[in-house]
Amino acid sequence: MSLTWIDGREVAKKWKENAAQRAQALTEKGVTPHLAVIVAGDNPASQVYVRNKENACLRAGIRSTILRLPESCTQEELESAVVALNADQSVHGILVQLPPVSYTHLPLPKGLDEARVLALIDPEKDVDGFHAMNAGKLMSGQPGFVPCTPLGVMKLLEAYNIPTRGRHAVVIGRSNIVGKPMAMLLLAADATVTVCHSKTENLADITRQADILVAAVGKANFVTGDMIKPGATVIDVGINRVDGTLVGDVNAEEAAQKAAYLTPVPGGVGQMTIAMLLSNTLDAAERHGR
Ligand code: NAD
Repeated sequence: MSLTWIDGREVAKKWKENAAQRAQALTEKGVTPHLAVIVAGDNPASQVYVRNKENACLRAGIRSTILRLPESCTQEELESAVVALNADQSVHGILVQLPPVSYTHLPLPKGLDEARVLALIDPEKDVDGFHAMNAGKLMSGQPGFVPCTPLGVMKLLEAYNIPTRGRHAVVIGRSNIVGKPMAMLLLAADATVTVCHSKTENLADITRQADILVAAVGKANFVTGDMIKPGATVIDVGINRVDGTLVGDVNAEEAAQKAAYLTPVPGGVGQMTIAMLLSNTLDAAERHGR
């Protein structure tokens, strides 16, 4: 069985080049595409994510504004920041940097209610696709903003001509930002979709039936070789830090013995997330047209 590594860096590069062309076309029409990011507190991982997004915007010619709120900010301050960005006609995309997944099991700093903040974002500017309006649109097959990571996975499958129609896709994970939208996108692409999660019984029996296996669990090396059908496409969404290095949710060494296609970590899905954020921001700016 020969293995093809899915090169997220290469695919993302093309999307970023395309984003730069779209940004330039908008700028020539007098519209400066503009993404605003709100980050509360000084969580170092959040700061790194925000800096990466800022750099990618600048390279693509997208204006980026970072609103840094202090660790001590209140719910009201956070919400007013969103309301002000909603009203700001120069802003096309808004995102609130959520705490990284590895921190989500800790109580949120100062008890800030993220759900309430996300619900306040104008759905037309919700380039992360986390607002219930956009989640509902995805569910009902209407155009809207789609969360960047699962959207990036679909673009990787397309780039490698991996068929989805009639294939059995198994998604491990049911979060609102990865697992659930991933399942919806695969369903819309005519796959037969199974969603597995922490309460799933006989997980390996199910994953072994997958033509396309997407791991979004948040546990290093969770998917082992015996869980993979020979010849499957294995998409590793996981980003876990183990002894200072990044490791996926899939045991890559074992998966490489079984899979026909496999995404590396790093250099796989993660590369696509930012590329899709640029693309969503440009969609917003093109739609808005000012
Ligand atoms: P999450 O913690 O919100 O969700 C994890 C999911 O895994 C849950 O739905 C849970 O039911 C499931 N799960 C946990 N233990 C399980 C088990 N033993 N068996 C089966 N399912 C189990 O995490 P998330 O936000 O969906 O992120 C998942 C992973 O993807 C993390 O590693 C995260 O860092 C990574 N991630 C990567 C990107 C990227 O750009 N590549 C973006 C977002 C998230």
